Amino acid sequence: MPKPGPFLEACRASRDLWPAWIAELSAETGLSIEYDASGTLLVAHEADEEAHLDKVAHAAAAVGEAAEEIHHDRFREWVPDASPGIRRVLRLLGDHRVDNVQACAVLAAAALAAGVTLNYDVDVERIELLDGGGAEGPGVRIHVRGGAPREADHLVLATGAWSGRIPGLPLLPVRPVRGQALLLQGVEWPWRGCLRSRHGYAVRRGATGLLIGATVEEAGLLAQPTVAGIASLLAFTRHTLPGLDATRLDTLWAGLRPATPDGLPLIGRLPGQPVWIATGHFRNGILLAPWTAREIARQMTGQEPSGEAAGLSPSRFINLPMESEAGSGYTVHS
Ligand SMILES: Cc1cc2nc3c(=O)[nH]c(=O)nc-3n(C[C@H](O)[C@H](O)[C@H](O)COP(=O)(O)OP(=O)(O)OC[C@H]3O[C@@H](n4cnc5c(N)ncnc54)[C@H](O)[C@@H]3O)c2cc1C
Repeated sequence: MPKPGPFLEACRASRDLWPAWIAELSAETGLSIEYDASGTLLVAHEADEEAHLDKVAHAAAAVGEAAEEIHHDRFREWVPDASPGIRRVLRLLGDHRVDNVQACAVLAAAALAAGVTLNYDVDVERIELLDGGGAEGPGVRIHVRGGAPREADHLVLATGAWSGRIPGLPLLPVRPVRGQALLLQGVEWPWRGCLRSRHGYAVRRGATGLLIGATVEEAGLLAQPTVAGIASLLAFTRHTLPGLDATRLDTLWAGLRPATPDGLPLIGRLPGQPVWIATGHFRNGILLAPWTAREIARQMTGQEPSGEAAGLSPSRFINLPMESEAGSGYTVHS
């Protein structure tokens, strides 16, 4: 859990936005998105894990997040495949779950229905910031691989782990941090939420799916599952959920999280430019999606950043008005 402060408040605000957002998207499209508010079961095997559990319970209480100890019998009923070596279980009721793949598909459908044009497979090679842009004409020219440039009044940069590599924009200090996960199928537990220890997590997906995650690795842009990464996830699974040994291994997956030097997202306008940055969400990009959308819309329509966005402006890494070698007009520090 993030420490108390504006970023934690942004996370909580975003969590609380999800149910209404899902209802709205479902009403607009007729499509459903799997969402569950059962919470997370934080489990402890060893004494040091118990100490961690106590710390989490304390931190949750300090910020008014609900947490309750779960009796062993109840836990066994919910998660019949769990290790008998699990000594204590803490349920964190504020951790909710959404199927992010479904959410993306439904969002795309809602955007299309609202008249948005979506272009897939377009590779942006360079952004050109146009003089006097925004007020009297287009603010940016977007150069794409193998196609004619496109112009726009405003640009929202949401290119995830690649956000530090877009020529023509400040070289934002965003780096890729790989995460590997795997999907099991055929899990029939009554428990519909998440289960987690210090070594990994297992989260329900669909009727019988269980997503096991995740590694946290500095591996550049290599978004591929590896033997060592998947072995560590299987070790967590076998230690925590030994009853799943015969369960079907369905999918292996790897993705890149956009990380920043201070671990916080970059949300806000590039000073003096018709460009808004929405990136650097690291491990919280799904959680923070509705809040980010609301915050960027708020700032683009001329309102002041919200209190929750305090400390998230990209300016914290950008020195103005020095000219950089790249000619973008900015230098960036990390
Ligand atoms: C294993 C794993 C588990 C995770 N679990 C959670 C979780 O439980 N909860 C949570 O909140 N978050 C989680 N995350 C983090 C979350 O996935 C990220 O924070 C989120 O995806 C970031 O969203 P984004 O839109 O900024 O970037 P992305 O989702 O990476 O999207 C960026 C897009 O920009 C495109 N792009 C980049 N460069 C260009 C270019 N030059 N031209 C055109 N397009 C471009 C990319 O192709 C990509 O489609 C997890 C991540 C991983 C890897």
